[in-house]
Amino acid sequence: MNNTATITSGAITKAYLYASLTEQVFPFPVELNGYLLSPKHMNDRVIRDVHLVPALVGPGHYLFHPTDISNEAEKVYRQGNNILGIWHSHARLSTFHSHDDNIVLEDVFELFAFDNKIKEKRIVPNPPGPFSISTYSGNIWKITDKASGLNAIIESPTIGSVSFALGHLYGIKEVKETYISEVYSLVVNADGEKPHLEIMSGEFNNREGNFFSIEKRRGNLKIIEEGLQFDKKDMLEEITQKVSLDIEGFI
Ligand SMILES: [Zn+2]
Repeated sequence: MNNTATITSGAITKAYLYASLTEQVFPFPVELNGYLLSPKHMNDRVIRDVHLVPALVGPGHYLFHPTDISNEAEKVYRQGNNILGIWHSHARLSTFHSHDDNIVLEDVFELFAFDNKIKEKRIVPNPPGPFSISTYSGNIWKITDKASGLNAIIESPTIGSVSFALGHLYGIKEVKETYISEVYSLVVNADGEKPHLEIMSGEFNNREGNFFSIEKRRGNLKIIEEGLQFDKKDMLEEITQKVSLDIEGFI
């Protein structure tokens, strides 16, 4: 599984700019949140833009309405984007993933993981036996084991090197096709501190439509040089329209 997410310099600059612009709209910097976008036609899972989602905010929290979350998602899908995950700013707090951030990521994973699945060929060395070989073509062999119900495609590194010993196959690898889904959570702040990336991934059973072996881990963010057009004035106006101070949060 990949531990790195790639973002363009334009997209990460825009996220940091959103974070610091809040100081010009409110008396103090507040948290903002939104989606990490990748244009559908690029098909390379590179984060190329960040989108702002309406929310009630404060210097240490943000609250969004479930309706806003799905409406905004519809909007960015219609504009031809994939949602690779979420980003949020921590105002003047350092960049890390809090307990609340983990809960949000888990919910968001349920929403977007289905659209983010990647077909992966995984090689399983030394599959358990015993097997019987039914057919082969080139170095791809089909093996079956009626007792365990196993029906696998295996790849032998060299033709003819497959051998049986005590009912086990040696010198072979099982090639398993699986779907992996990954959703990112990126945290920036208004101080321009190093970004924090959390990755939630799960293996996806395409037939059943279920996820299993879901895990969450710290990831690395790779920044590639690629510009993005944005206008500071438009962003200020967007913040004013979409974000309101959460007065309740201060009580
Ligand atoms: Zn947070």
